[in-house]
Amino acid sequence: MLFKKPKFENCKEIQYSFKAYLEKKMSLTEETAFVKHIRNCPQCKGELIEYFGFLAAVKYLDASINDDDDVSKGNFAESIEKKLCHTELLARKDLNSKIFRRAVLTFVVFIISLAAGII
Ligand SMILES: [Zn+2]
Repeated sequence: MLFKKPKFENCKEIQYSFKAYLEKKMSLTEETAFVKHIRNCPQCKGELIEYFGFLAAVKYLDASINDDDDVSKGNFAESIEKKLCHTELLARKDLNSKIFRRAVLTFVVFIISLAAGII
């Protein structure tokens, strides 16, 4: 066996490992050491959250370009989808009310013409 190489001794090593951690490419031992450092280092924790936010934003952009990628569909994509559906619903309601108003107007004109014809 090799000597146990101390991992994640400093913040730089931790910050180089953000991607590996978030992509679950670490062994449990590495992950445990990583989390232990993050728990005790507010600076690295802050950096990790920022990095995670950055990854989420990149995934969101991927999802809007490539709809087939279900993995990329995070909350951002879902909320955009809801907004789109809401807009479509509003547009449909507006169209329906325009059609309804036109039908009412046509009916009123018809009744008035009819009444005028009778009188
Ligand atoms: Zn640190």
